[in-house]
Amino acid sequence: MITAITCLALLQQLITPPCVELSQTQSVQAGGGFITCEPSPFDDALDAAVRIQREFKDYPRQLFERAGCNRIVLCTKLAYAGQLRAAIPDWEHNTLYIDTQRGAKSPGYPEHVLHHEFFHLIDHADDGDVYNDATWNALNPIGFRYGNGGVNAQTTRNTGALTDSIPGFLTHYATTGVEEDKAELFAFSITHKDYIATRFRTDTTLAAKMTRLQAILNNLCPGAQNLITIDSNAPTPSHSAYLTHN
Ligand SMILES: [Zn+2]
Repeated sequence: MITAITCLALLQQLITPPCVELSQTQSVQAGGGFITCEPSPFDDALDAAVRIQREFKDYPRQLFERAGCNRIVLCTKLAYAGQLRAAIPDWEHNTLYIDTQRGAKSPGYPEHVLHHEFFHLIDHADDGDVYNDATWNALNPIGFRYGNGGVNAQTTRNTGALTDSIPGFLTHYATTGVEEDKAELFAFSITHKDYIATRFRTDTTLAAKMTRLQAILNNLCPGAQNLITIDSNAPTPSHSAYLTHN
């Protein structure tokens, strides 16, 4: 108990805002299912707290409030409706759940997940509808239709790997749903700016999506669009792959 309290105090010094909590074993109803998780080992929670501090340090403080992110809960064995997840945005309870172990050893993956899942909170705060966006859909190539959601691509090999082979999209995962398309562009525009800059030179659909994404951010929290500002003169980069996704 004393260890848990000490750990929590340390985490809260590292990250403000939002409030960071260590989870007990719990089951919370959200949408049509239950979010379940168990307490995280101390060392993994600390690693995650440091990672969160590093990745979110450039987020405007007001963005957490505007996105409805009041709590970040660190846990393990995180699942939604029984499906294991690395993170879950719970906009019904203003909470972002982070599994401190799932995918934590995959280079670049846990960082990407933080930005990707946080965007789902932004997306919900924008207009209350995460799964439909006619304005965004109109930016896609004529005839394109999204798949049946990220939940059905969790085991698809390399679904989250950056690829140049799908015009207008960064990953296969981005083609599974409009909500994932936006979250992928947001996350990679923070973590892989050089790669995005290169794609913009030849992909007008991606460039148009970025303009729309910046408008969404600016509308919710003026200044937040600077998070995803891209320097079009950036050098050609290399990039890493992500094998699993949320
Ligand atoms: Zn997602």
